[in-house]
Amino acid sequence: MNSPTQLARDIDGKAIAAQVLSEVAADVRELALQQVTPTLAVLLVGEDPASQVYVRNKILRAKEAGIRSLEQCLPATTSQAQLLAVIAELNANPEVNGILVQLPVPAHIDEGAVIQAIDPAKDIDGFHRQNVGGLVLGQDVLTPCTPSGCMRLLHDTCGDLSGKHAVVIGRSNIVGKPMATLLLQANCSVTVVHSRSIDAAALCRLADIVVAAVGRPQMIDASWLKPGAVVIDVGINRIDTEQGSRLVGDVDYASARTVASAITPVPGGVGPMTIAFLLKNTVTATRRQLLRAAELATTHTSPQEA
Ligand code: NDP
Repeated sequence: MNSPTQLARDIDGKAIAAQVLSEVAADVRELALQQVTPTLAVLLVGEDPASQVYVRNKILRAKEAGIRSLEQCLPATTSQAQLLAVIAELNANPEVNGILVQLPVPAHIDEGAVIQAIDPAKDIDGFHRQNVGGLVLGQDVLTPCTPSGCMRLLHDTCGDLSGKHAVVIGRSNIVGKPMATLLLQANCSVTVVHSRSIDAAALCRLADIVVAAVGRPQMIDASWLKPGAVVIDVGINRIDTEQGSRLVGDVDYASARTVASAITPVPGGVGPMTIAFLLKNTVTATRRQLLRAAELATTHTSPQEA
């Protein structure tokens, strides 16, 4: 346990996300020299209040970074075929560089079909199977935003991650699995813990790095941690207290910081990084599309024109 005066330092996700966003803004200014404005299409189906807040935040941050956003709010009664038709239009529109469908979509729509309908080159969430496969193969593809954000937090906190033992708690397609893959690529030894793991706490106590993506409020406390562990808390859970409701992570922050060396707070840790990497991916997608268009133009230039 840390001495009472020696609590884990906070990993300031807001500050690091601000840095990423200023890098994005610089990239956008560079693209402007080529008369290109990265453009992000955001689709929201239905009126889920939490999704509306997420979409508003993404659009606001995009605007601040100089990225154009095209928002389409579709009614909750939109059919899957109608949504796929809108995605097909955006895929075909050369002015659109990134497409984001805010999840979850209403229950009558197959989320998987929606994700696979997005052009992989515009899939800034990195959820399309082509990008997922590319990530596993170690290719330079669009990578899911939350795990990418966690990696940046870890590199800023620990520097080189080679040889560290990382435990990822959770194996979802959007956080746990890509997180484990990215940690492996950074030369960590990786253990993935899930609901069927036997003695998850004991496995976690072996970790130099813990990434918690479970969706269970304050499940991981000091007793799960090796002294000096670095803790990244992806969880966002709303709990009721006597003072009203508040957001907490999957980690019991007050307890964990007595043992960890560094920890992300909730809110203000991973959350801001997710949006920052969404915009970073939008710029990356734009750059790659420009490159591809230039390559195609060269290929199609006739010998007389060349
Ligand atoms: P999912 O519900 O898709 O996955 C949860 C994972 O946790 C599953 O793999 C599940 O295992 C595992 N799990 C559940 N209970 C236990 C347990 N008792 N012990 C060990 N493992 C367990 O969640 P997500 O990955 O989508 O999200 C996780 C959390 O991260 C949520 O709080 C979510 O709100 C938050 N989140 C935050 C983001 C951000 O920007 N900060 C972005 C995305 C998510 P199994 O597979 O066996 O069922």
